[in-house]
Formats: sequence, C-alpha cells, structure tokens
Amino acid sequence: MKELSRIYSAVAPSATMAVDAKFKQMKADGVPVVGFGAGEPDFDTPDFIKEAGIRAIQTGQTKYTPAAGTNDVRQAVAYRIKEDFGVDYDWSSIIVSNGAKACLFAVFTTLLNPGDEVVIPAPYWVSYTEQIKMAGGVPVTVFAPESQRFKITPEQLEAAITNKTKAFVINNPSNPTGMIYTRDELQTLADICVKHDLYIVSDEIYYRLCYDGNEFVSVASLGEDIKRHTILINGVSKSYAMTGWRCGFAACGDKRVAKVMTNCLSHAMGNIGAMNQAAMAEAMLGPQDSVDEMRRVFEERRDYLVKRMNAIEGVSCLKPNGAFYVMMNIEKLIGRTLAGRVIRDADDFAMAFLEGGLVAVVSCCAFGAPNYVRWTYATSLETIKEGLDRLEKFLKEN
Ligand code: PMP
Repeated sequence: MKELSRIYSAVAPSATMAVDAKFKQMKADGVPVVGFGAGEPDFDTPDFIKEAGIRAIQTGQTKYTPAAGTNDVRQAVAYRIKEDFGVDYDWSSIIVSNGAKACLFAVFTTLLNPGDEVVIPAPYWVSYTEQIKMAGGVPVTVFAPESQRFKITPEQLEAAITNKTKAFVINNPSNPTGMIYTRDELQTLADICVKHDLYIVSDEIYYRLCYDGNEFVSVASLGEDIKRHTILINGVSKSYAMTGWRCGFAACGDKRVAKVMTNCLSHAMGNIGAMNQAAMAEAMLGPQDSVDEMRRVFEERRDYLVKRMNAIEGVSCLKPNGAFYVMMNIEKLIGRTLAGRVIRDADDFAMAFLEGGLVAVVSCCAFGAPNYVRWTYATSLETIKEGLDRLEKFLKEN
C-alpha cells in the first residue's frame, strides 16, 4: 500500500488520550473515578439561546448558508466585538465556522506557506502546534516559566523571530495556565509583531472568564496598525456553555485574510448548521447576565481549589486570573515512586494518580510543560473537594 500523507502522519495523537481512555474504561467498569480533564463548562446552554435554535428550525432555517456564515450572525458578532472591545469590524471581515478550533485551522491554512514559522508561548493549548504542522508551517515554542507567571517576555519574543517567522499566537486568558496579560504587556508584544510585520493570531476564547477584577484587553483594541495585523479568534463554547453547538469566529483586520479563509472554508467544510448560527447570533445580541453568573461560580471554585492545593505537601500552584484551569506543579514529586510507578514527568504522574488515586487530570507534557498537570474547575465544588481529598490521601499513602 502506498504511503499516507507525510504531513498528516506526523501529527501527534492527543497526548491526553492514554489517561482519558483509561479513565473512560474504568468508569464503564464501575470504578468510582473522578475526572478533571474536560475543558468545557458543566453548565447548560442558557434557555433563550436554545430557544433561538429551536425557532430557527421551526421557521425553516435548515438550508445552506454562505460558507462564512449568514449576514445576520456576522453582524451579531461585529456588534458584540464593538460592545465589548470598542473595535469596529465590517461584517464581511467576520468568519463564522465550526468552533474556534476550525477557525484557527482556517487561519493557519490561510497564512502559512511551507516552512513558515509561528511563535507560540509555552505552556500552550495542544492544537496550535499540530494545526500549524498540518498547514505546512513550523511551530516555534518559547517556554515561559512559572517565575514569569507563565508569560512570554518581549525579549523572548524578539529572540524567537527569524526571517521565516510569519505569525505569533497568543492565548489570553491562557489554557492551560489561566494567566492574563496586562494591557502594557500586550501592547509591547503587539508592537514587536507589527515592527516585524508578523500576523498576530489572538485566541481570546476565555475573555469573559477574568477574575479578581482583572481587565481583559483585546489585542485588536491596541491600535489600527495592530488591528490590521491581527486575527481575533473567539467563540461561544466557553462563555455561553455552548461547546456542542460548534460555533466560533475569526475577525480579520486584513480583508485579504477574510477572503482567502472564506474560499478555504467554502471548499473544505461549507457553513456550520444554519440553526446553530441563529443560536450564536442570539448569544451575541441577547442578555449577557448568564455569563456573569457562570463567572462568579467559577471564581468561587478556583479560590477553593487553589487554597487547598497549596496546603498539600509536595504540590503547589499559582493562582490563575482567568479561564478555568489550574496548573499543578509536581516538580517535587519527580523521582518518587507513586502507586508503583516511578514519576519522571507529568505523563507518569497522571497515570499513577488515575490508577492509584482514581482521579483523572491532564498531563501538561503535550502542552510543553512536563512538570505540571492541569486541573479544570469547570466542574462542581463537590467533585473538586473529592478530587483534592483523594490527592491528599494519594500523596500521604504513597
Ligand atoms: N482555543 C482554546 C485555547 C481552547 O481551550 C479551546 C477549547 N478547548 C478552543 C480554542 C476551541 O474551542 P471551540 O472549538 O469549542 O470553539
């Protein structure tokens, strides 16, 4: 049989798969495991949004739409961006697709030629590196340590730029670190990108989840030149508990980018469900108080998780300012044997903790941070308490 695509064969399988598969199997076998893996809110989609989807089906919005979305949904997105960030986008610069994930894929496909480099601060969300490789590009990861609150410095960005660099990816607030860049930090990084004529891919999908009164600043709001170089990525999955609706968008400062992306989507995927677009438009235009309520609950859970985790001997974490993840530092556990397994990195710890402690967490090896595991607090306070009780017991007894 002939060889498969070299590009796609080199794409890494999801590194969290081994632990996740085992977690699911244990659950199916009736083992009382608890999970902190899923990056999705445990809340339900607000009723008024669901109703908009149902109404759309009942009124015949069941046909093809333009590949980049209906005019209505693109206008609704432009409205929300203007309301939240004070930035103007013409609706034709907005592309709606199958979640932020598909938008990112279309962006990388649109921007990159073979061999083009893209700088990504680590720890990073796993799909960036793989999508860039799928688009023929070369991911260049730059590690931002805990001592920098996991944030890349201007010096690090400058040092990573070569004559092949095409773009810089920034995820703010960050998955997996939960950190937020300040206005000044963003301005400095964005100015460097413009100076080198780089595109900025700014993934702002967690923007509604900022705590402690931290200000969220959209990269596109930092100036006209910066906006022109920026592709904003966002969606409704996290802010409106709509992960299964698969609605995301890209807002392009450069119309050429929107045009090529639209062409790419029109051949590769076509539009997302017309009724999903109607629900997304309602989320953008309707009342926003359910978002604030979810944020309040997340903040409460974060406070509990962080306080208790830092009181447990052998592990620690920074207090994140946004999103719904905590990075647990396991450096002190490296070299120890836990549940019969020598811990060399986070993959080992995640497997040992699942087998011996009956808790599934996400190893950050694939996020570029092998001394960390990620917990999500997009789950109930009872589950969080149970998980931490088990962690305490696991570390004491092993
Ligand atoms: N970006 C980041 C940083 C994410 O964490 C996720 C979801 N895990 C996405 C994008 C994709 O979100 P969706 O495709 O559901 O819109």
